Amino acid sequence: MEYLPNILFAVILIIGIGFFAHNVRKLARNIKLGKDVDVSENKGQRWKNMAKVALGQTKMVVRPIPGILHFLVYVGFIIINLEVLEIIIDGLLGTHRIFAPLGSVYNVLIGSFEILAFLVIVAVVVFWIRRNAIKLQRFIKPEMKGWPKKDADLILYIELVLMTLFLIMNAADFQLQQVGADHYTQAGSFPISQFIFPFFDGISSQSLVLIERGAWWLHIVGILFFLNYLYYSKHLHILLAFPNTYYGKLEAKGKLNNLDSVTQEVMLMMDPDADPYAAPAEDLPAGEAGMTEPEKFGASDVTDLNWVQLLNAYTCTECGRCTSECPANLTGKKLSPRKIMMDTRDRLEEVGRNINGNKGSFEDDGKQLLDDYITREELWACTSCNACTEACPVSIDPLSIIMDMRQYLVMEQSAAPSDLNNMMGNIENNGAPWPFNQMDRLNWKDES
Ligand code: SF4
Ligand code: SF4
Repeated sequence: MEYLPNILFAVILIIGIGFFAHNVRKLARNIKLGKDVDVSENKGQRWKNMAKVALGQTKMVVRPIPGILHFLVYVGFIIINLEVLEIIIDGLLGTHRIFAPLGSVYNVLIGSFEILAFLVIVAVVVFWIRRNAIKLQRFIKPEMKGWPKKDADLILYIELVLMTLFLIMNAADFQLQQVGADHYTQAGSFPISQFIFPFFDGISSQSLVLIERGAWWLHIVGILFFLNYLYYSKHLHILLAFPNTYYGKLEAKGKLNNLDSVTQEVMLMMDPDADPYAAPAEDLPAGEAGMTEPEKFGASDVTDLNWVQLLNAYTCTECGRCTSECPANLTGKKLSPRKIMMDTRDRLEEVGRNINGNKGSFEDDGKQLLDDYITREELWACTSCNACTEACPVSIDPLSIIMDMRQYLVMEQSAAPSDLNNMMGNIENNGAPWPFNQMDRLNWKDES
C-alpha cells in the first residue's frame, strides 16, 4: 500500500506518454503522405531561421502586444517544464521536492516559476478578452466559428487552470512547511502564492495535505491531458513550429516552382538545334528522356501536395495574421489563407482516418481538397502577393498550396477563368498578353 501512489503515478505517466507517442506516429504517417521534396540544402541557414523565428519569436513581436504576451506564455511553458521534471521524479520515487537540496538556487527557481505562472495567467486573461470581449476581427472570421473558436478558448482555460493549481499547490505546501508537517521540507520561495496563504488560515494540517496533494495530482494529470490534447488542437504548433521554420522556404518569396517536365519541353521547343523529327520524350525509354512526366500536374488533393506543405498545415496556429494582411480577404473576397491551411489539415485528417479505418490503405471516399474543401473561387481570388507568407509567424506558405491547386485546374482541367484563358491564348499567339498582332506592336508611335 505504501507504494500505491507511486505505482498509480507510473501507470498514469506511461498511459499519458504512450498515447502521445501513438499520436505522434499518426502525425508523422499523415505528413509522409505528401510527396517527397528535397529540402536538404543550406542547413546552416535553416538552423538560423529556426533559432530566429521559432526560438526567438522574431515574427511574433511585429505586433508588440500579442507578441510580448505570447512570449510570456512561451517562456512560462518552457521553464515550467523544469518544475514538471521535479514532479515526475517525486511521483515515481515518492520523494517531495527532490531538487530542494539545491538551496538558494532552488528558491530562486521556484520563485521565478511563480512569477511566470502569474504572468501567464495575466496573458491568458488578456488573450481571452481580445477573443471574446473585444472580438478582434481576425478572431471572428467565418472559418473561426465552431470548433476552432472552442479550441482556442479551451486552451486558454486549460492554461489558466494549470497555473492556478501550481500556485495553490505551493501555497498549501508552504503552510505545511510552516507547521512542520512530516515530509514537507523547508524549501522554495513563494512571491505569488503567498497571497493565497490567507485563504488557508485556520485549516487543519490534514485538510492542507489534501489540498496540496489534490492540486499536485490535478496539475500533473492536467499536463498529461494537455500533452495529448495537442494533436487535436491548433496548439500542435508548440512542437511543430521548430521543424516547420527549419524546412521553411529559403528562396525569394516571389519565386514560383516550375515543373521540370514542362521546363524541359519548352527548352526543347526553343532550342534551334533540336531535331524536329526526334521521338517525343514520352516515347523514349525513361533514361533517355531524361525526365519522367508526373502522373498528375498540380494538386487536387492533399496527397498531391509535398510533405512540407502538409507539415505547414499541422503547424498553423490559426492566428489569422495572414488573413488580416491578405488583400483579397480585405476587399471582401472569399479567400482566407488561414482557411486554406485549416482546410488542408482537415482533409489530411480525414484521409488519415480513412487509412486507419481501412487497415492501412486509402479507400476512395469520393472527396478531395479541391471543391469539397477549397473552392475555385477562393483559389482564383489570390493575387499571389505573398503578404500571407510574410505575415506568418511560423513560416507557413499558404500561397504554394494555392498555386499547386491552380496548376491542377489549368493543366489538368483547362479550367482557368476566361480572362486568364484569353491572356494565355494571347501569349501563345501574339507573344504578349494583349489581343494584338505582333506586327502591330509599334502602331502606337504613329498615333497622334
Ligand atoms: S498571396 Fe494570395 S492568399 Fe496570400 S495574402 Fe496575397 S492574395 Fe492573400
Ligand atoms: S498560416 Fe501562419 S499566419 Fe496564417 S493563421 Fe496559420 S499560423 Fe497564422
